[in-house]
Amino acid sequence: MDAWPELDRYMHQLADLGRMSALLSWDQQVLMPRKGAEGRARAVATLRVIRHRQLTDPRLGELLDQAREADLDVPRAAMVRVLAHDRDRAVKLPDDLVRRLALAGSRGQAVWEVARRDRDWEMFRPCLEEMVALKREQADLLGHDGEPYDALMDAYEPGMRTARVEPLFASLADELQTLLGAIADAGPPRRPLFGGAAFPDALQWDFTMRLLRDIGFDLDAGRQDLSAHPFTTTIALHDIRLTTRMDPDDPFSAISSTMHEAGHGLYDQGFDPEYEDTPIAEAPSLGLHESQSRLWENLVGRSLPFWEHYTPVMREMFGEAMGDASAEDVYREVNRVQPSLIRVESDEVTYNLHILIRFELELALLRGELEAADLAGEWDAAYDRRLGVRPPHAGVGVLQDVHWSTGSFGYFPTYTLGNLYSAILWERIASDLPDIDRGLRRAEFGPLLDWLRTHIHRPGHIQEGDDLIHEVTGSRLQHGPFMRYLWGKFGPLYGIEAPA
Ligand code: ZN
Repeated sequence: MDAWPELDRYMHQLADLGRMSALLSWDQQVLMPRKGAEGRARAVATLRVIRHRQLTDPRLGELLDQAREADLDVPRAAMVRVLAHDRDRAVKLPDDLVRRLALAGSRGQAVWEVARRDRDWEMFRPCLEEMVALKREQADLLGHDGEPYDALMDAYEPGMRTARVEPLFASLADELQTLLGAIADAGPPRRPLFGGAAFPDALQWDFTMRLLRDIGFDLDAGRQDLSAHPFTTTIALHDIRLTTRMDPDDPFSAISSTMHEAGHGLYDQGFDPEYEDTPIAEAPSLGLHESQSRLWENLVGRSLPFWEHYTPVMREMFGEAMGDASAEDVYREVNRVQPSLIRVESDEVTYNLHILIRFELELALLRGELEAADLAGEWDAAYDRRLGVRPPHAGVGVLQDVHWSTGSFGYFPTYTLGNLYSAILWERIASDLPDIDRGLRRAEFGPLLDWLRTHIHRPGHIQEGDDLIHEVTGSRLQHGPFMRYLWGKFGPLYGIEAPA
């Protein structure tokens, strides 16, 4: 195809604009002083509009049309498919709406930060009302078959539909509730392993850096910093930024944050370098991305073999603070199940119930079945119903997550999809690598990382997530493997058995 070099230039420019936005957003969350927010919001909105114009340039449309007619190899055909998908969404949105969305998102986030700190739902409510109206306008412009939520979820999980997710999540919730009930019946919640013992920040930092090196995160192509809410930002293939956070009373908060973000980071360091700066040097979806973070955080980092290796390491580093805790004690501690108010601190059994609550509420908002003004009350009622806990104030209730303030509606389901995908993958990994536990016990992560590189990381977005999972594992999206995994772990831990 003669015009490929010109199309290639578009792809590189779009990638560069993406890098700049990513760097600005990383800086905002890690380094920027609070008063920089307004100026930064304008800069980010301007960059978004420039990228939007680039993507909607009629010449790019002509080039993509030509490319679709041409006989392309598989990677190039995928680049055209992914870029055309982005462009098709972009051309439906006028510049003006793109700017209004970007500004409402940046300002909404700034208001949300103060509102959450002050536990003041009423302060944030007008921002949410404005944002829901904007998102409904956006969804209608993008187009949908009567389900506006589909148009928004498609930005994060291309091709996924509410009609598929809704029943899947409903049966998952039923089975989780059964497991949670059995755990509750098994006895009172376990008490935390450590109480009041201090785990100095500096040592926690060293421990997390050691973990990054051990699992194979390339620190010459990435770095770790601190932030209030851990996240991963990809500036480029060889520039992946992770963050973590420290809690002096609980070393496992930093460990799980680092393992989680490193899972994201390993994925982004693992794309085929041949595809760098093209639209397929990315995960097929956020759900797939999350499958990698949850795999390292939970399937690896909350497993007994992992702790058989790292408990003595921690004892050496933290000394007396560790008491005489055995690997088994630590394993029980990192798998303590207790319904709670905060999603990011929740255990593997209750986590997806937190997601389900958010999914149901945002779906109702988009469908117009719930008014933004009633959201806080509905939130509290849902927590009561699903988890048996009631938030004492909005700071630990409806205001706890950033997503709605930035307009990320349709994002929450990807967390649960990630958990489901990680369990589907793990069943395959366990059968391909029968020695996996022995490897984990020795902190030998190479075979696991190689497997992930080959099957998941390197292909990038060459096909859609559900198709990639199907090709690699023979299984489509389902919750069976995840429930088997949970019962396999928590059954023995709590002395309970799965219903027949
Ligand atoms: Zn994540």
